[in-house]
Amino acid sequence: MRAAEIRDDLTDILVTEEQILHKLDEIAAQVASDYEGKDLLLVGVLKGAVMVMADFSRALPTPVPMDWMAVSSYGAGTKSSGVVQIRKDLDTDLHGKHVLIVEDIIDSGLTLAWLLENFESRGAASIEVFALLRKPDAAKVEVRSKYVGFDIPNDFVVGYGLDYAEKYRNLRDVAVLAPHVYQD
Ligand code: 5GP
Ligand code: MG
Ligand code: MG
Repeated sequence: MRAAEIRDDLTDILVTEEQILHKLDEIAAQVASDYEGKDLLLVGVLKGAVMVMADFSRALPTPVPMDWMAVSSYGAGTKSSGVVQIRKDLDTDLHGKHVLIVEDIIDSGLTLAWLLENFESRGAASIEVFALLRKPDAAKVEVRSKYVGFDIPNDFVVGYGLDYAEKYRNLRDVAVLAPHVYQD
């Protein structure tokens, strides 16, 4: 799906696919150097992190295992409540692993804060976060994210894995969803 095909549903394109891929190369180089000689495990949070995991993992120079977690945050409407339920757990024992959580976006931070606390008890050697996007003005809790791609304004965005009602994940760029799409 090209941005042009759904232009009426979007206002601004905030980050283009080209900018994302360039940034992923930079962060992958940093991660490769930070984790050299370490037992790295990438953990993607379904479904939003699918695109960033696919492109980021392939930007890494060495073979690396990946696992997936699916969680749902219960709350009113599209807002995260911080009450998180595991819908699919990891297949991997985290004992001794250097875990890098790969996330699409940090909004309130509540989901990641919960996930970090949950992972702390599983015996990992270290746990860090890579979030492609972050909304600094939306933070309700501080999440220690070692790697962040782009800070963006506090708007509802879609594309590159991010959905509205399961649509727009396959949009190549990250764009602001036009309010008329979710109003009325
Ligand atoms: P939290 O508020 O707990 O940080 O965000 C939890 C999840 O809500 C994110 O991982 C992401 O999947 C989703 N989310 C947060 N902000 C946005 C947004 O602007 N657009 C979309 N499509 N999803 C979002
Ligand atoms: Mg997510
Ligand atoms: Mg969603």
